[in-house]
Amino acid sequence: MLASRPKGLPVSENFRIEDIRPGPVKKGEVLLKSLFISVDPYLRGRMNDVKSYIPPFQIDMPIEGGAVSEVIESSNELFSKGDIVTGNLPWATYSVIAGEKIRKIDTKLAPPHYYLGILGMPGLTAYFGIMDIGKPRPGETVLISGAAGAVGVVAGQIAKLLGAKVVGIAGSDEKCRILKEKFGFDEAINYKTAKIIKKSIMAACPHGVDVYFDNVGGKITDAAILNLNFHSRIVLCGQISLYNETEMPVGPVILPRLLTRSVLLQGFIVSNYSARFGEGLAQLTKWLKEDKIKYTETVLKGFEKLPEAFLGLFSGKNMGKMIVEA
Ligand code: NAP
Repeated sequence: MLASRPKGLPVSENFRIEDIRPGPVKKGEVLLKSLFISVDPYLRGRMNDVKSYIPPFQIDMPIEGGAVSEVIESSNELFSKGDIVTGNLPWATYSVIAGEKIRKIDTKLAPPHYYLGILGMPGLTAYFGIMDIGKPRPGETVLISGAAGAVGVVAGQIAKLLGAKVVGIAGSDEKCRILKEKFGFDEAINYKTAKIIKKSIMAACPHGVDVYFDNVGGKITDAAILNLNFHSRIVLCGQISLYNETEMPVGPVILPRLLTRSVLLQGFIVSNYSARFGEGLAQLTKWLKEDKIKYTETVLKGFEKLPEAFLGLFSGKNMGKMIVEA
């Protein structure tokens, strides 16, 4: 559970594990055993006591997020013992949950943990961000920050399927190598070793950037914006480099640049597309089956690893989706 609100970068003392027995299973409820638990950057925002698109976590209460669980006992006619379900669930080994909070998943279609990544919130974010906002045309250049993470690696592969040239930005030479060799990115830039990121982007994108899929914000985004083409699009997905800032840094004033290049900038939250999740999941499943999209994840084993896995997102410990096997 959340022991205290982080100030800046979270530390392990902000989390606490407690031994709490789940209550009896009442009508309409199920007893769940956690199998896989997702850690996601947006959880950091919920640790602050501020109003946002989703309410803050409360101190001394469980953190909750995406999880895949097994039904151990059911008093809900829609669920039976042994069903594998997903939902936004408390970080707990066992929990009693109302049936409305979960949905069954088809584990014949894909392994259960895929529903936290490629067939879950990150995959859908990549899908709608590219298909609905970025809309790359064949031959255009798509630049993706946070490219080796859960969303970035999928977004890049979708852009490739649409015929774009894809350039990723990531935090190590190894991640850059994997992006190119395994996921078909045309170029990859290690932002930690690049002397001047603006120039590295210019070299990797000699015809400029038509779509910038932003997972990171900050200095990387400032540099990306200086390489944008006329009528380019910014898919404003995430700003992880700023999530632990206590004072918002002031960067270059970018609006004149967007104005003179006729740039479209669109922020979005994946839940905006909830009515179309079926479409997104069907397409992602099809691409997976046809081996047109590859999936990767980093799995930490043991429920007690949740804080470590979550903190690892801010230092780039993950390649692809970061999850914990409970
Ligand atoms: P992720 O990319 O799997 O994990 C975070 C990655 O961010 C790390 O592996 C790290 O990789 C990079 N990173 C961390 N701190 C950084 C910094 N200061 N500068 C540059 N890179 C940094 O996470 P994800 O789940 O795919 O999410 C990616 C972004 O999308 C996040 O900003 C998240 O909040 C956002 N998001 C938005 C929506 C939406 O609905 N709009 C939905 C899901 C996710 P490196 O090794 O490359 O540094």
